[in-house]
Amino acid sequence: MIPDYSTFAANAEAVLAQIAAACERSGRDSAEVSLLAVTKTHGAWAPEFAARFGLASVGENRVQEAVDKKALVDAPLRWELIGHLQSNKARLAAAHFDRVQSVDSGKLLQKLNTAADAAGRKLAVLLQINAGHDPAKFGADLDAAPALLEVALSLPHLQVDGLMTIAPLSGDPAVAQRTFANLRSCRDALRAQFGVPLDTLSMGMTGDLDAAIAAGSTQVRVGTALFGHRPPAPPS
Ligand SMILES: *Cc1c(COP(=O)(O)O)cnc(C)c1O
Repeated sequence: MIPDYSTFAANAEAVLAQIAAACERSGRDSAEVSLLAVTKTHGAWAPEFAARFGLASVGENRVQEAVDKKALVDAPLRWELIGHLQSNKARLAAAHFDRVQSVDSGKLLQKLNTAADAAGRKLAVLLQINAGHDPAKFGADLDAAPALLEVALSLPHLQVDGLMTIAPLSGDPAVAQRTFANLRSCRDALRAQFGVPLDTLSMGMTGDLDAAIAAGSTQVRVGTALFGHRPPAPPS
């Protein structure tokens, strides 16, 4: 069921207030933390509501779903891919997304670089790191991050904005805290080693955004708290 815009707007106000409160607790400026509205599985109404509210960016998990949705939405949004990307979809992803957050292998980096070149653009990426050592999650191991960044920095059609992680599903808040602290220290180490800013830390979702902001998140990816529970994913 499609909620009213007013319900969505109240949800969005509440999420922004939560972000502001989390920033305040950690002595951070809330302008440092952006809100990515995760519109996956929802119809075109979801990105339309986000744009109408004034949010700048939406996140999608599946390339084809996003391409189809984007064609229906006439709003100046940035579209970011946050779901696992198969290398055979790299060309489509590079043509349609403003940023790909789920880059976790050298092979995928190479494919995206070639695809961005073909599309005549420089593609922004984040390196997805499995900072919670979760066997159920995609993402490069923490140990592999320096080698992955080295490859990424050698590719002229990619721009590496920073890192992304997803905390393991767990009832224990300490697990999310540890995951986010790991990503933050990984970023700090890479920054020192390679001399690149890697300013973006994409971490935190509906259930764990406070912990992510405390650990230095600069972008939280929120679906449920904005749009309600998701309908089941359509078959791929
Ligand atoms: C679905 C998803 C989100 C949003 O999750 P919510 O718990 O609904 O806020 C964030 N990040 C990624 C990578 C996702 O797949």
